[in-house]
Amino acid sequence: MSSDIDTLFKHADSQVADILNKALSDKEISPQEGLRLYNATGLDFHLVGMVADEIRKRRVGETVTYVVNRNINFTNVCIKQCGFCAFSRDFREEEGYFLPTEEIVRRAKEAYELGATEVCIQAGLPPDMDGDLYEKICREIKKEIPDIHIHGFSPEEVLYGASRAKTSIRDYLERLKESGVNTLPGTAAEILDQSLRDKIAPGRISVKDWIEVIKTAHSLGINTTSTMMFGHVETVEDRVNHIVKLREIQKETGGFTEFVPLNFVHSEAPMYKYQLHEGIKQGGSGNDVLLTHAVARIMLNKCIDNIQMSWVKEGQKMSQLLLMWGANDFGGTLINESISTSAGSEHGQLLRPKEIRRMIREMGRVPAERNTNYKKLRIFDKEKEIEEGLDNITDASQFGSYTELIKINKFHYVNPRRK
Ligand code: SF4
Repeated sequence: MSSDIDTLFKHADSQVADILNKALSDKEISPQEGLRLYNATGLDFHLVGMVADEIRKRRVGETVTYVVNRNINFTNVCIKQCGFCAFSRDFREEEGYFLPTEEIVRRAKEAYELGATEVCIQAGLPPDMDGDLYEKICREIKKEIPDIHIHGFSPEEVLYGASRAKTSIRDYLERLKESGVNTLPGTAAEILDQSLRDKIAPGRISVKDWIEVIKTAHSLGINTTSTMMFGHVETVEDRVNHIVKLREIQKETGGFTEFVPLNFVHSEAPMYKYQLHEGIKQGGSGNDVLLTHAVARIMLNKCIDNIQMSWVKEGQKMSQLLLMWGANDFGGTLINESISTSAGSEHGQLLRPKEIRRMIREMGRVPAERNTNYKKLRIFDKEKEIEEGLDNITDASQFGSYTELIKINKFHYVNPRRK
């Protein structure tokens, strides 16, 4: 780093300066040191961001990646009632929907024809689900579009699928792989602390099972992402411990492609709406969001190279800022976003590739389209813009929205007990 930064270090808190120097020497940052960085204020706060940015530069350079993808949340009917989830409906509720496999395939095909390389499939856990439903969906998608990458089924869904199919996690993952699943979203992690999970989402997949699904997937050559939901009832210690757990898994398996901090979207989340927990927050504040990405970059140095921000949760301008605080990936175009939107996020459901590229360029960085496993497909290092596929969509309502889905009869979930 430049001598200007060295000068700034001289004015910083000596403990913070030592930790940051250690990070710059590529040494592992302990949970206590991570915690100290999290509590940085004033000049120290800015230095944490500068060091995260420097480490980002060393690990992945100046390109900022994104993936052209579509989310398909094929049902919102779920047997669980996680306190942070405004997306799910009980099977008796009027607003339950369930997309038939033909519609899922149609949506995947439509996205593929507009340039998508990935479909991200996640949904609620409907009661009485056939154990082979996920496999059937994947087979049908691959039959029509063999090239599309299926990024599908969170550890919670894998566990549910395995129990519905009455088989082991390993066997079930093998079956999913065989039917076309390429990678898994590392969602359903929230904070990997059992007592906290028991509080915010009783009955949610346990820490032990989450780790088992992830490690088993990695051992079968199925990469996953990794995530953390922050800004609700957790402490900063919980976050640091969560990041360390992910770091330990990564050292063992090397199967995480990225880490995504997910800011809690509060307004419609039941645990906030009904004030179920004392002191529950409205998501992380601006400086908290910046620090969370920066501390993650510093603590995951040499372990997980890609730190993704969520534009759906943070909005476009905060996402741009995060590119200076350790993040190097803009995530996906999404096309249909239901989870954050239903919880009250107002940042939209689709970002066209050209809009992502513009935002990256505005920050002086180089946009690159990637595939799900972070292989760069195209680097846009020339200023000249192209417009193709999804870029040319003027009316995003053609893709349908979550609000429509829960209202229209066509995809209404039929309560099996009324059949
Ligand atoms: S987070 Fe997932 S498992 Fe929990 S209620 Fe929502 S859809 Fe169901």
